[in-house]
Amino acid sequence: MIEVLGVHKSFGTLEVLRGVSLEVEAGEVVVVLGPSGSGKSTLLRTINHLEKVDRGFIAVDGELIGYRRRGGKLYELKERDVLKQRRNIGFVFQNFNLFPHLTALENVAEVADLAEARRFLDRVGLADKENAYPRQLSGGQQQRVAIARALATHPKVVLFDEPTSALDPELVGEVLDVLRDLARSGTTMVVVTHEIGFAREVADRIVFIDQGAIVEEGTPGEVLDHPVHERTRAFLSKVL
Ligand code: ATP
Ligand code: MG
Repeated sequence: MIEVLGVHKSFGTLEVLRGVSLEVEAGEVVVVLGPSGSGKSTLLRTINHLEKVDRGFIAVDGELIGYRRRGGKLYELKERDVLKQRRNIGFVFQNFNLFPHLTALENVAEVADLAEARRFLDRVGLADKENAYPRQLSGGQQQRVAIARALATHPKVVLFDEPTSALDPELVGEVLDVLRDLARSGTTMVVVTHEIGFAREVADRIVFIDQGAIVEEGTPGEVLDHPVHERTRAFLSKVL
């Protein structure tokens, strides 16, 4: 469902992704772990073309992201076509990214019709908060609105970039519950998180990334309990 092939990305002289390849099957839940600055957010952002890759390819459901192939050459897509592709790729940010001047319902209705917006607010347990503004909601509730918005376009995949790391500890659970529910219902997901317990329970596969490269990947049992690489061990010893 997601194919990342040989992706390189630099910012100036800083090489942030150094040939990353990753395939995610339909219905699969992949958790990405790695130290700060290792390129996790950049990897997610290249998948929905918020960042352009320098080399390599990304496809979602067989469709090349950001480009069109014609006569053996690649052409960059117009912004309008990129936006259309992004509707297939839900993205949930660490800091919710809601519009402060819009209610919960209006935030979701930015991307879908009202009936759909209500349906997805209900799905994240916020049917009774549709008229609340973000500042009237807890962090966990705001993030659930953001998840409803990410789902409301019926994306083929949903990417989560540390969806709980801006939350007070007591609010983390309600957001992880929503993610767990999505995973169970067969949503194809890539989740960057430091919540190791969640990763162990929900991930089909864990990918450990360090210095812009995938160092190790496998089932939670493999990566968390029997890491092969020293760098994975060193990282886990800090977060476990
Ligand atoms: P964290 O766990 O702290 O979120 P991360 O693994 O998500 O880290 P990235 O945000 O992908 O790391 O950043 C990787 C590196 O690229 C960092 O050194 C960061 O400073 C740099 N970087 C990211 N975005 C940009 C940008 N737009 N311009 C310049 N440098 C950037
Ligand atoms: Mg990040």
